[in-house]
Amino acid sequence: MATSKVTIPEFQTTPVDAIPGIAATARNTFKTHKTKDIQWRLVQLRKLYWAFEDFKPQMLEALQRDLHKSQFESLLTEVDWVKNDCMFMIQHLETFAKSEKLKAPHVPITHSLMNLHIRKEPMGTVLIIGPYNYPIQLLLAPMVGAIAAGCTVVIKPSELTPNCAMVIKQVIEERMDPDAYAVVNGAIPETNALMNEKWDKVFFTGSAQVGTIIAKKAAETLTPVCLELGGKNPAFVTKNANLALAARRLLWSKTMNAGQVCMSQNYVLIEREVVDTFIQQLHNSMKEMFPNGAKASPDLARIVNKRHFQRLKKMLDETNGKIVMGGSMDESELYIEPTAVLVNSTHDTMMMEESFGPIFSIYPVDSLDEALGIADGVHRTPLSLFSFGSKTENMKVLNEMTSGGATLNDAYFHGSVNTVPFGGVGDSGWGAYRGKASFDCFTHCRTVADTPGWADRLIRVRYMPFSFSEMRL
Ligand code: NAD
Repeated sequence: MATSKVTIPEFQTTPVDAIPGIAATARNTFKTHKTKDIQWRLVQLRKLYWAFEDFKPQMLEALQRDLHKSQFESLLTEVDWVKNDCMFMIQHLETFAKSEKLKAPHVPITHSLMNLHIRKEPMGTVLIIGPYNYPIQLLLAPMVGAIAAGCTVVIKPSELTPNCAMVIKQVIEERMDPDAYAVVNGAIPETNALMNEKWDKVFFTGSAQVGTIIAKKAAETLTPVCLELGGKNPAFVTKNANLALAARRLLWSKTMNAGQVCMSQNYVLIEREVVDTFIQQLHNSMKEMFPNGAKASPDLARIVNKRHFQRLKKMLDETNGKIVMGGSMDESELYIEPTAVLVNSTHDTMMMEESFGPIFSIYPVDSLDEALGIADGVHRTPLSLFSFGSKTENMKVLNEMTSGGATLNDAYFHGSVNTVPFGGVGDSGWGAYRGKASFDCFTHCRTVADTPGWADRLIRVRYMPFSFSEMRL
């Protein structure tokens, strides 16, 4: 569904030797204090909002070229997503940025003479590194938080989505303050060069493997990091679930962006007696969503590149499970049909690896307790989990297993709410953003105490020589 003839510049990486200068400009700009002014920040957020409106055709075209994303999906999950975040921040920034004057119970009686408050200060100059699956949203939504907090920002888009990377560069360079905000394009050498610079925070979204590299490098300079990583997310389906609903919603989660979604389920743990009905319902939903077959659908995105296509194909080639839905693919189009595989071992490739594509496994269990035990063994701290069962069963899942976020009776809907914190836990991520959390993520809460001079009449006791030095305990 290509849009009108919009032009997108050819992908160009940023010269590695230009990177120290780009970082220095952002650092020096922060030192001028201009980004701290609330009205200035609001202007930047408004500029970003209107840039998203004006560059919408280029963004839709870039998303179509890079991932074959439909216009509807691109608007919903990328362009309008970021615009909503801008709007939310514009509406609430003045409240978020206000200093908090502390009162009881935060001020103990012993300190009641001082004026205690918390200033919301920008962390400084921050680096945001993004992945390929939501190449616009996952860079710019954190950037909204960083702008709102008063930081200067350098962003590094994924090189796997080169058209989006170039449109992002155009948006930032043509519409935003060039001294405060910059885009570095490239892959590993450019990211390494960026990580050789000193940042006040690094915000990384991507794989756990690269997240580990980033966190290790950041630790060398004691740079705080926010890590938004992936995970092998479980879905639990019991015999008490509405199976048609569960099938439709779990299939939806593997069709959006062709399942290249960090929050989508890797596997479904389902009570054995309802497995056949669930599979039948998956087929019914496939027919509803793709009446002419998935390949012919203009709505289904494609796999980002051959490497990821081959990775997914290998998972299917090496599984010992049985394909019970889908299974067809076409490398020339980077197309993989939404596919479900019935497995019976946690050592199966379909259980061991993060799928991050339109394929998932179905694992029959005898009880919810067995399901919880398996999920704990596969990944103790996934990014998301989903539970389809009775109220009691859903509560049992929430109480007995942790995850970054969770949705009951649906697939990852918790991640679609732009006003609530989103993030992982344990090895699926550190820190959160979205809503007020985006502002907090790039803000230092600085406690300030101001003690009036006259108070010395009452608190002289603190000075030596201590009048209590002879006191016997
Ligand atoms: P990735 O980790 O391969 O790449 C992310 C970024 O790191 C890219 O900008 C890339 O250029 C850079 N990079 C890659 N290798 C590097 C290296 N060796 N050294 C330094 N930088 C390097 O991730 P991806 O393949 O783009 O995205 C998929 C992964 O991201 C999945 O694991 C998915 O679950 C995760 N993800 C998480 C979230 C979340 O919000 N938690 C969102 C989207 C994707």
